[in-house]
Amino acid sequence: MQSPAQRTRRPICRGARRQRVARLWATLAACAVAYAFCGTAGAAGDDPTSSDALPPLDAGTSLLVVAPHPDDEILCCAGIMQRVLAAGGRVNVVWITSGDGSELSLLFAQHSILPTRTASRTLGARRMAEARRATALLGVAPQAQWFLGYPDGALLSVLQQQDRRMPATSYFTDAAAVPYPDALAPGHAYLRANLIADFAAVLERAQPTLVLAPSTRDTHPDHRAAGLLTAAAAADGQRWQLRYWIVHGGEGWPSPRGLHPGLPLTTAPRLAGDTPADLVLSPQEEDRKLLALRCHVTQMQFLAPFLLSFVRTTELFYR
Ligand SMILES: [Zn+2]
Repeated sequence: MQSPAQRTRRPICRGARRQRVARLWATLAACAVAYAFCGTAGAAGDDPTSSDALPPLDAGTSLLVVAPHPDDEILCCAGIMQRVLAAGGRVNVVWITSGDGSELSLLFAQHSILPTRTASRTLGARRMAEARRATALLGVAPQAQWFLGYPDGALLSVLQQQDRRMPATSYFTDAAAVPYPDALAPGHAYLRANLIADFAAVLERAQPTLVLAPSTRDTHPDHRAAGLLTAAAAADGQRWQLRYWIVHGGEGWPSPRGLHPGLPLTTAPRLAGDTPADLVLSPQEEDRKLLALRCHVTQMQFLAPFLLSFVRTTELFYR
């Protein structure tokens, strides 16, 4: 069966894409240097003098949510996705990995601490299906759901590859190329150049006006890598606005753990000192966020207290 990605594929000028990817390469190299020195790439391309507020969310909004793993898209952004769609705007989601290295899920599925490649790939496919259901529940169209299929737990090492011809190999799936047939580019080797090109292809198709990406100060390396990848694209003369969110925001955060739907989300310790724009969710938006989160069955089995602590009256976005 044709994947959503294949159904919507349209020709893009190869020369223009090559130029764009080359610029992304150069920018990413500069970001990596900045990251090495100060631990954050910052919001490249943003105007530091402009407001922290979110841009207007209306029929002209084209939102792209960048999720390192299936479930992140709900934790950060289920409320804002509903708000944009209700206003008549468009929403796309891109998952950089398929979450095939979730060790607790593999432990439960196999009763072993040494996952087989089959179990890991089965988990990845299952988590992709969960993410499709979760975002469909919010109103995201199947053709706006993009999976890149890069290796869970190794995204930063792909992005920082020294030998650019030697693909990374996933510890979990044993794959050295995208193993999922319904990903954007099945068979693409786990090379930095391919990751950058695949992400650029999603930007071409989504044509976003607003991109929400993980903070480069998140404690999870895959999240930092996804933030760096997006920051590099933002610095490439893009006209979209960029905001960051955070999931792994420091010890004990969010506090208190568990479902407390009447409480706002507090600023994460890792972003202390930064002033976020807070989107206040309606009770209906919050209820639907909870329903969407429950679609991530494999994760809710083990991480429910942590995951539920993101179902709050607010979602926070940082410049
Ligand atoms: Zn994640």
